[in-house]
Amino acid sequence: MNKKKLGLTSKIFIGMILGILFGLLLSKVPSGYLKDTILLGGILKILGSGFITAIKMLVVPLVFISLVCGASAMSDIKKLGRIGVKTLGFYLCTTALAVTIALIIAKVVNPGVGIDMSNIVTSDPTIGEKQSLVDIILAMIPSNPIASLASGEMLQIIVFAILTGVAISIIGEKGQPVKALFESFNEVCMKMVSIVMLIAPYGVFALISNTFATIGFSAMWSLAKYMFVVLFALLIQGTVVYSGLLKLFSGLKLKPFYKKYAKVAAVTFSTSSSNASLPVTIEAMEEIGVHNSVASFTLPLGATINMDGTAIMQGAACIFISQIYGIDLGISQLLTIVLTATLASIGTAGVPGVGMITLSMVLTSVGLPLEGIGIIMGIDRILDMCRTTINVMGDCACTLVVSKQENELDLDKYYSEKELAK
Ligand code: ASP
Repeated sequence: MNKKKLGLTSKIFIGMILGILFGLLLSKVPSGYLKDTILLGGILKILGSGFITAIKMLVVPLVFISLVCGASAMSDIKKLGRIGVKTLGFYLCTTALAVTIALIIAKVVNPGVGIDMSNIVTSDPTIGEKQSLVDIILAMIPSNPIASLASGEMLQIIVFAILTGVAISIIGEKGQPVKALFESFNEVCMKMVSIVMLIAPYGVFALISNTFATIGFSAMWSLAKYMFVVLFALLIQGTVVYSGLLKLFSGLKLKPFYKKYAKVAAVTFSTSSSNASLPVTIEAMEEIGVHNSVASFTLPLGATINMDGTAIMQGAACIFISQIYGIDLGISQLLTIVLTATLASIGTAGVPGVGMITLSMVLTSVGLPLEGIGIIMGIDRILDMCRTTINVMGDCACTLVVSKQENELDLDKYYSEKELAK
């Protein structure tokens, strides 16, 4: 069992590396039947899209079922409230910190100064709809929970699942049969995740080679400085910020966390979607000892509202766009960016590319031209892969902190060699 799992994680990474190489190679091959129809539009598409769809298939049932189990396992409603407040606080603070870091790095590097815009391929910007906080809050209450499940409205599903779980827990004895049923469903869902993950190495290979074959290196070079700022800020967030917070608030050693996260990272990187990665994220965090009652709540919530990596991209993009258009941003505008990017992160769905759309809300808040989005859109997929990895890492770091503080972390599992080897 152990050996098999070790094999799977390594295979996913091999798939990722081979995917990058194959994609770059393919980007050099001129368009033709073999490249476009057989490879990109055929084999790679079946493997890549098939893999994403297969994981997505599990998201709604898994989130709903595991959250009902989590909430019903919490006999102490006050504890549930405390976990909720802590999680929200952690998510908001880390996102605000993330944008601030991005703004500072961008201000030092000045990615947009001296850029020749004629070099850059632009595409039409998509303008996102502005949502007020009241709308966001109201939209969390499902008027028809079945419709929310059918359309995958994550926040509504979360609200309905918590209510179901809490009700099961309050009625006690009488709720036991339903609780047992959900627990059994939960086991089935987790098994389905493991089965789907068996095709992960091939799916990851196909997704990554498709991305690199389409973008190639040349487009990346013209925007290299902007990419550097985003990647550097993501790196700081993923290493310094999260490890600092983990040490400070949980006192845990970091190695088990980062080792376990590698498996999740391969999936976030190749799918660019926090939502699609959820089954794998929940599986990994539970394997490392986090109790289901915490993981089933913090992780789906995080995949929906906590996007530190996206906020980093938005901060850096604001500075970059302001510089290429020669617009000066004052301190009050920088503060507005911190605030709106934090809110935009809540409104960003955990699917590929949405961060680019909610960027329009941040740009508008400080009067920057939306056309700027067209300039950075071409290379956004690569950044999306990286920022999604940080988005989900933030969810996991919070989950560990909260579970440790609430005594819902199995330390033996966290430090066990067997889990580390997986
Ligand atoms: N792709 C990101 C995620 O799923 C969201 C974004 O920034 O576009 O977390």
